Amino acid sequence: MNTQEDKVALVTGASRGIGAAIATRLAANGFTVVVNYAGSEKEAAALAAGIEAAGGRALTAQADVSDPQAVRRMFDAAQAAFGGVDVLVNNAGIMKLAPLGESDDALIDSQIAINLKGSLYTMREAARRVREGGRIINLSSSVVGLYQPGYAAYAATKAGIEAATHVLAKEMRGRNITVNAVAPGPTATDLFLNGKPQSVIDQLTRLAPLERLGRPEDIANAVAFLAGPDGAWINGQVLRANGGIV
Ligand code: NAP
Repeated sequence: MNTQEDKVALVTGASRGIGAAIATRLAANGFTVVVNYAGSEKEAAALAAGIEAAGGRALTAQADVSDPQAVRRMFDAAQAAFGGVDVLVNNAGIMKLAPLGESDDALIDSQIAINLKGSLYTMREAARRVREGGRIINLSSSVVGLYQPGYAAYAATKAGIEAATHVLAKEMRGRNITVNAVAPGPTATDLFLNGKPQSVIDQLTRLAPLERLGRPEDIANAVAFLAGPDGAWINGQVLRANGGIV
């Protein structure tokens, strides 16, 4: 297993779902982990306690990523506790689906605020602060590629994240910092499962040639690869982790 002694990874939206699996996996690989959450304080605390019980180091940090001041405070807290940040995993996100013609302002604005602006705010802090040799890993989605009806606003935020990934990778020249995105397909978390009829879940489950939903751990494996020594030469790329769906 890769070990990452003395490296600090900040994972946004780590209280549940994919982010929780990423935080757990990076801690198992030896990273000290900052577990960011917005509202799920108990879940974040339980996750951090589990990491500590397993011999790792973890800190919880509440911050709504759509608030740039809160993002700054979160990085300050990580720096004060552990001396700096080596890896940002930009995972926090929401998904609200509706045909664009039926989308209200809140559906559009909330996704842009959290997914797109939130990711830009955390990437900006990371660009300023991540230590030499560090990694910035953004969560996109395979909807960029699939482009199904109902996903216009969500897909637009993720396409924006992919664009920023490519640009920031170039802006990090000279600092030995890589910037990549992981783009999951349908993955069994609240974000994917909530509000969908079972028939739609079944149909999406069969879509990938591997004929199952992704598990949060599948995505954590891809992120751990990019965060660790084996991923050092991967830069400015989008890695689709989706069982072959697109
Ligand atoms: P999830 O189970 O709904 O969990 C979302 C996480 O994001 C939670 O920890 C939540 O924290 C946090 N969060 C939400 N709004 C936040 C905010 N304003 N500030 C900080 N944290 C916030 O979602 P998931 O499925 O794990 O998704 C994780 C990422 O993968 C997202 O970027 C999503 O777009 C992407 N993705 C998911 C799938 C999928 O099928 N599941 C597919 C492609 C891409 P609280 O609980 O504290 O609110």
